[in-house]
Amino acid sequence: MTVSALAALPPRDCPFCPRLAAYREVHQRLHPDWFNAPVPPFGDEQAELLIVGLAPGLKGANRTGRPFTGDYAGGLLYDTLSKFGLADGVYDARPDDGLALRRVRITNAVRCVPPQNKPETGEIATCRRFLAAEFAAMPRLRAILALGAIAHQSVLMALGLRRGLFPFAHGQVHALPSGLVLVDSYHCSRLNTNTRRLSVAMFESVFATIAQRLAAPERAPRPACGERAGPASAAG
Ligand code: SF4
Repeated sequence: MTVSALAALPPRDCPFCPRLAAYREVHQRLHPDWFNAPVPPFGDEQAELLIVGLAPGLKGANRTGRPFTGDYAGGLLYDTLSKFGLADGVYDARPDDGLALRRVRITNAVRCVPPQNKPETGEIATCRRFLAAEFAAMPRLRAILALGAIAHQSVLMALGLRRGLFPFAHGQVHALPSGLVLVDSYHCSRLNTNTRRLSVAMFESVFATIAQRLAAPERAPRPACGERAGPASAAG
């Protein structure tokens, strides 16, 4: 693992968000067999696509230790990745199911499980240092898929971009000044699918767009993440 990648990994006992650290400790006592720590990214640092979710689910990634593994959202996400040739193997909701990602890495805007799946604004801002380090650790990164508006905003802020210039909208493709592409989707949560805010067809349509982008030849080496280019990249 590179030095940059190590910088993107918080320690298991990361203390920066006291509320989340206390919540972790409660579940470490209640469920000593669960992962109960900041959930590291899944997938190769050489990936071209980074998928950014919101935060680990209590009984999903917080239990299993792999993003989107063990809950409803993971079923839809990994099935879709497989359908588009971005994963090999069979997803079985376990970190040892042998599933391997192809050209994809998955992480969350917030690495620790928040109560009620709701991180506070300060916690999202505090954990952003690890998201920013993640971008820096991925030399071949071409596209970012933000699952939900909070992930979208945190990505922009981690890249030093003004949120107002790139408003969140499902299916929207944002060409960022650095040469990266940011694609938006509603989060693939059970709530969003049950309420029909997000259908399987809508989610697959987003991945069809991404697959098209990844199939196109890379235009030019992108500047380092966080490097600013042009007026649209002024910090917000
Ligand atoms: S959410 Fe991020 S910054 Fe906050 S305690 Fe967890 S790893 Fe540390």
